[in-house]
Amino acid sequence: MPSPIIRIDNITKTYGPLTVLDGLSMDVMPGEKLALIGPSGSGKTTILRILMTLEKIAAGHIEVDGEQLYHMRKGDSLVAADEKHLQKMRTKIGMVFQHFNLFPHKCVLDNITLAPMLTKGVAKAAAEARAMKLLDMVGMADKAQSMPAQLSGGQKQRVAIARALALSPKIMLFDEVTSALDPELVEEVLNVMRRLAAETDMTMLLVTHEMGFAHDFADRVLFFDKGRIVEEGRPEDIFRNPRQERTQTFLRKII
Ligand code: ADP
Repeated sequence: MPSPIIRIDNITKTYGPLTVLDGLSMDVMPGEKLALIGPSGSGKTTILRILMTLEKIAAGHIEVDGEQLYHMRKGDSLVAADEKHLQKMRTKIGMVFQHFNLFPHKCVLDNITLAPMLTKGVAKAAAEARAMKLLDMVGMADKAQSMPAQLSGGQKQRVAIARALALSPKIMLFDEVTSALDPELVEEVLNVMRRLAAETDMTMLLVTHEMGFAHDFADRVLFFDKGRIVEEGRPEDIFRNPRQERTQTFLRKII
């Protein structure tokens, strides 16, 4: 039995007086495709942002790929991670955001090559060759020289996926990646994600309101409410036969 690639152990996250996650624990196995569902404000995005080290936690521990995320070993004790450790850990994880977050003044190709060149010291030619492969995979090779403002939302999001893949992360996080798109552009992004899920052994965590997609994509679905996992299971069980009242009510409203 392999060990989990992500271990979240009893973490607490607060924003001022608001406790968003309260003693949350969960494990993710290597290669697992996980969907996080639940009402707005239940803490799903916060979990992804914490894994991406974009937020601090108030208590608890997280292990990613066998190493502490927010801590590091010093002799026998665990101390807060320094920037160098955080940077190393960040290369293990790629994230795609709801609002793309492309660099507006860089062309598509530069958006993708920047991080590998700056954080991993990859040479320009090698970074560009890999970027073109990734752009080809997301069907955007012909837009390599375009600026983000010249692209549709669906195209921007496909570039953002290629950019996240450029550092060859073991884990990909997708945060509501289709919710800012016009309905007719949703499918082209979901198709890229379907292919990624089928063709790679990357671990993927997806926050979504697209229940049909969550059903097809995920090996396991976690239903969150108020910062806690209320129910989890295989998609066919959660969507067809939810056991908890709160899951039933949520799914009745959304489907
Ligand atoms: P979800 O993704 O399930 O909709 P979030 O993780 O985005 O939920 O948010 C969880 C809670 O944390 C919400 O109540 C939200 O208002 C609050 N929150 C998120 N980010 C911040 C922030 N930067 N400052 C204060 N509160 C925040």
